[in-house]
Amino acid sequence: MEKLSKTSLNYVLSEYLNDLKRSGVQDFQRAPRVNTDRRVSSAASQQTPSPQPTRGRATISGESSVSRAVPSPTVSSSAIVGGSGDSRVAELRLIADQVAGCSRCAELVANRTQTVFGVGDPHAELVFIGEGPGAEEDLRGEPFVGRSGKLLTDMIEKGMRVPRSSVFICNIVRCRPPGNRNPTSEEAAACRPFLDATLKVVAPKYICCLGSIAATNLLGVQSSLGQLRGVVHSYGDAKVVCTYHPAYLLRNPSAKKDAWLDLQLLMTEMGLPRQG
Ligand code: SF4
Repeated sequence: MEKLSKTSLNYVLSEYLNDLKRSGVQDFQRAPRVNTDRRVSSAASQQTPSPQPTRGRATISGESSVSRAVPSPTVSSSAIVGGSGDSRVAELRLIADQVAGCSRCAELVANRTQTVFGVGDPHAELVFIGEGPGAEEDLRGEPFVGRSGKLLTDMIEKGMRVPRSSVFICNIVRCRPPGNRNPTSEEAAACRPFLDATLKVVAPKYICCLGSIAATNLLGVQSSLGQLRGVVHSYGDAKVVCTYHPAYLLRNPSAKKDAWLDLQLLMTEMGLPRQG
């Protein structure tokens, strides 16, 4: 992606915000800009109140933490590649700020501990998309932690033999659906502008959808995961491969061999050497 000047960045983000408003997301709160310096060590305070005690977190590989006390929306980044000169970092943090202050989905806002923006390399060629944060993700503010996260890490690092830190990972919705239910189509639609904006900034060449919720929502189709697997789809210029969600694989270990076939398809598309 072309490096953006500060003026261009402001224009791009204002366009994102206009897109959000045009798509019906009217009630998110505009959080103040966070310090985009590479090293941010002190807590940042902000005046914008949140309707619910909430904390938001953008975990983008390469940068140190920023945290704000509840009830204000919080963006904390543990590791961002690049620094104040990296336009993608700045753009992602601005989107994460909007996510942190979003109150679009009343039930999710009422039950979330914090928003879960995404984690990984802003320059990643490959983005993994799941359905939504679970209980542990909600507590830690990071997608794919716990047992599902460990399995995803194994799929990436042992299966594909690329470092997890080199990919970007996010979800269809950025707030935990209570009881780990599936996000509704309305919630997915409400959060879609944030997903599209994130993907516009990261500009991946490849996307791997984890589970049917991620696949059908990203691709805008009603098909079953079985119908979507084994085929290379597209999202803009990115090639999209669909496979099982790691949580499903933990419950159904016999499906791992099919998931491995899906990863091999992805690796072939990416030009990575296939194992086994
Ligand atoms: S899921 Fe997305 S749209 Fe809904 S409240 Fe959370 S951040 Fe906002």
